[in-house]
Amino acid sequence: MAYKIEESCISCGACAPECPVNAIAQGDTIYVIDADTCIDCGSCASVCPVGAPVQE
Ligand code: SF4
Ligand code: SF4
Repeated sequence: MAYKIEESCISCGACAPECPVNAIAQGDTIYVIDADTCIDCGSCASVCPVGAPVQE
């Protein structure tokens, strides 16, 4: 289980600094989560204004 950022991401950047394991990076169009690094804490989902990070 890991979080994944959906297409609704508006690339605001709020989630990346909240990730305790630095699993979030800016991708070509939206932000992306490295599923192998994500520890499923939910912090990104808590700060996202559009609810883009979802649990897979
Ligand atoms: Fe990082 Fe937690 Fe979001 Fe996973 S769920 S990407 S560990 S903030
Ligand atoms: Fe995208 Fe939400 Fe992260 Fe902002 S907080 S970059 S909208 S996933």
